[in-house]
Amino acid sequence: MTAHQPIGDELHTQIQYRLMEELAASEARYRQLVENLNEIVFEIDHQGHLTFLNRVWTNTLGYELNTVLTRPLHDFLHPEEQDNGKCLIRQILDTKISIKEEFRFLHQSGHLVWLEVSARPNGKGGASGVLMDISDRKRATAQLQYLAYHDTLTGLPNRLAFVEHLEQAIANLQCNPHQHFAVLFLDLDGFKLVNDTLGHLAGDRLLIEVAQRLQKCLSPQDVLSRFGGDEFNILLRTVTTTLAATQLAKQIHDALTQSFELEENKVFISTSIGIVLSHQTAPVSEHLLQNADIALYNAKAIGKANSAIFDCDMHTKVVERLQLEHDLRHGLERDEFEIYYQPIFGVSTPIGNPTIKGFEALLRWHHPTRGLLSPERFIPIAEETGFIVELGFWVLHQACSQAQKWQEQCPPKTSIQLNVNLSSRQFLQPDLLRKIDEILQGTGLERQCLTLEITESTIMNDTEATRFRIKQLKSSGISLSIDDFGTGYSSLSYLHRFPINTLKIDRSFVQNLNRKSENTEIIEAIIVLAHKLGMDVVAEGVENPIQLKQLNALGCQQFQGYFFSRPLTASQVKKVLAEHQALTKAPRQLGYAYSTKNQS
Ligand code: C2E
Ligand code: MG
Ligand code: MG
Repeated sequence: MTAHQPIGDELHTQIQYRLMEELAASEARYRQLVENLNEIVFEIDHQGHLTFLNRVWTNTLGYELNTVLTRPLHDFLHPEEQDNGKCLIRQILDTKISIKEEFRFLHQSGHLVWLEVSARPNGKGGASGVLMDISDRKRATAQLQYLAYHDTLTGLPNRLAFVEHLEQAIANLQCNPHQHFAVLFLDLDGFKLVNDTLGHLAGDRLLIEVAQRLQKCLSPQDVLSRFGGDEFNILLRTVTTTLAATQLAKQIHDALTQSFELEENKVFISTSIGIVLSHQTAPVSEHLLQNADIALYNAKAIGKANSAIFDCDMHTKVVERLQLEHDLRHGLERDEFEIYYQPIFGVSTPIGNPTIKGFEALLRWHHPTRGLLSPERFIPIAEETGFIVELGFWVLHQACSQAQKWQEQCPPKTSIQLNVNLSSRQFLQPDLLRKIDEILQGTGLERQCLTLEITESTIMNDTEATRFRIKQLKSSGISLSIDDFGTGYSSLSYLHRFPINTLKIDRSFVQNLNRKSENTEIIEAIIVLAHKLGMDVVAEGVENPIQLKQLNALGCQQFQGYFFSRPLTASQVKKVLAEHQALTKAPRQLGYAYSTKNQS
């Protein structure tokens, strides 16, 4: 037995030694595993104090382990998270639950580190778990969030963010019905010109600076947002009356009056502003924005740098306009358009017999419910929507075909001039000449019989493209006339740049002939200059013999107006032409007006 004793002790010691070795190896293995992890592994005691950490802690939060162990884990949380953190740690320790939560910690150097904490009770009164660094993920999410809610150019809230603010203001209204607010819709005037002339970079710079000036007009509770392009929106949380909203709009107009310096260029820009107050419309974000937009549309219509406050009348008009816009598209398919023709007369000086020189084609619309509509009701809509291009070429085709028929009925060598209005949109169509050629060929009308009337505003946009287009038309043998001359305040001095055949003096000048003496002087100046430049002059809107006499005395020899004839239907023109031919054979007295019935 005694012989066995030492062997037993030795064995025992050996086993113990081996066990210790294995334990140490196992611990080393675990420690290595724990140290090689990407996450912080931690253990806390029953008081929430740190008792174990791997070195990932130091890599992640900066602190050396020996300065940290024994301190409470919640000490390292962001101050705003500490109460919540402490409470959660207590819950794990007291109620033995497991948690997985995201927390903001502070790095030793002060910056924020987002850690996802997974912890569970360790069965010894404390808890253990891992802390995973999720800062990159948080940053990426925040970036996405930022992009989703902000305009990247100006850094302002975007449409999505604005609508959320608006909905919040609407929700507040439910609890506090007197807390009204206002929505402003801004659109810069002529921003496109800056972009086109100075380039997009300058345009961007301008938008950023405009945003800064706008922001200065607002109080911190208000929200300024950019919806894109040159459109800004403002939510005025503190403004409850139309007066206050208008005053703020004025402040904005004033803030923009000073020039902007863009790469050595001084740029002036103004804005149009549409205003709606929360009590003016249903408390729905979509309606508020829509009505602010309607008000903006009205502000633009007044002219640059204006504001308009929404009212219900505006809404009715917009609905009507939208309806007309919709009906216009079907009007062509349903054959609802008709062309009237107003004669243009030549009268020699001293006043002799009037002779028909030609006709101006004037469009009418037989609207299915609104009756006969004048072009002033629908041409502006067609222009805005671009439908004018299709409609305008339809007019050109119909009128040319009609004029050719009259031409064939007239005695040989008499030529009937046809004037057709060309909108500025049509004028700039790249394939304008090809289309005109096709129409002339298709209808057989001689090109020298056609005069295209372009408005003064079309040529006022005195660009290279405009001048090129005018020269192109002129050299193709088509005559050009400037319509409504005098209304666009264009400089007479640049008329010589354009090879124009005729100036049509706007009827507003003719109608004011007797009232203002300077009108007579202006008309005289226009006539003298036009003749010096080899152009003809047509006076529009002549309604009585006094106007005719005065204009004729000033040197004008062509006239259009109710005194001679209202616009006529094609069949009325046929009769008038026959009558006119008979008349020119037997001269008659001045003052004759074609009194055909149903004139428009
Ligand atoms: P506009 O080209 O200046 O045509 C002359 C307008 O003056 C016509 O109005 C004509 O009816 C009216 N008028 C003629 N004589 C008198 C007069 O003695 N007194 C008064 N108060 N008015 C007179 P309308 O037909 O209503 O056309 C208005 C405008 O609509 C035209 O002005 C023209 O700018 C535009 N327009 C008409 N047809 C077309 C078209 O086919 N295409 C385009 N783009 N515009 C058109
Ligand atoms: Mg005209
Ligand atoms: Mg005119």
